[in-house]
Amino acid sequence: MNNSSKPLITVNGIEVIYSHVILVLKGVSLSVPEGSIVALLGGNGAGKTTTLRAVSNLLAAERGAVTKGSIQLRGERIESLSPAALVQRGLVQVMEGRHCFAHLTIEENLLAGAYTRTDGHSAVKETLEKVYQYFPRLKTRRNSQAAYTSGGEQQMCAIARALMANPSVVLLDEPSMGLAPQIVEEVFSIVKDLNQRERVTFIIAEQNTNMALRYSDYGYILESGRIVMDGTAKSLSTNEDVKEFYLGMGGAERKSFKDVKSYKRRKRWLA
Ligand code: ATP
Repeated sequence: MNNSSKPLITVNGIEVIYSHVILVLKGVSLSVPEGSIVALLGGNGAGKTTTLRAVSNLLAAERGAVTKGSIQLRGERIESLSPAALVQRGLVQVMEGRHCFAHLTIEENLLAGAYTRTDGHSAVKETLEKVYQYFPRLKTRRNSQAAYTSGGEQQMCAIARALMANPSVVLLDEPSMGLAPQIVEEVFSIVKDLNQRERVTFIIAEQNTNMALRYSDYGYILESGRIVMDGTAKSLSTNEDVKEFYLGMGGAERKSFKDVKSYKRRKRWLA
């Protein structure tokens, strides 16, 4: 991990249980340095969304709870803070599925993202103009009703709305979902730009391992609620297991992903 920047977020061995009985996360630990992009990778149901929900304290709405471990933001324990209090401390989550307010225009959606701000109308206006610089497509579509914009524009709207809160860290859940590769590329490159120029930290949960590793600094791979591997994006993208199981670059004789993954992975990583 990059030791030059101190962790903005630290997750220490958390366990998450849904509905009092369903154990989903089994001792997940993460360290997210300030100013970095960290990818949470893994297949369907691995626990990526649950990890993000634990950090942004959105578990209660899903009848879930952190039952062990701790989560810190800048060294402060945050498990008992409400999502609104977390937004005020600069932590915002963009949920999977680009939840825009369908009947509002793009600009109304963006302004809704500034509702926790207390620094006045002109500061909000300034942020809006800055957000439009990063998302010129949204500026063009500012007066369109969100329901009538494309999937890519709605994803951009969801991210841009989160930025209106002036966050220091944004949790993005599956930003690539349902988008054409070219649009995914556009979204990720805006994220990278925001990271580099505005120093916004991102935690990105993604099934699109290839894209996520190209744009992030560090990655964690989750499987069945545990971290099975972590490393710099560069080291993960050249790792043979990651290439085979997550990047679809295994040898030609490889059987289907499902056939080989369970025993082979357990053998190599969980032995
Ligand atoms: P996906 O990419 O499909 O969203 P994920 O890695 O984000 O996958 P999670 O959504 O965190 O995975 O789900 C992890 C596990 O927790 C899954 O087995 C899922 O069925 C279960 N789960 C998620 N939400 C709930 C809930 N509200 N109640 C009970 N079980 C849940």
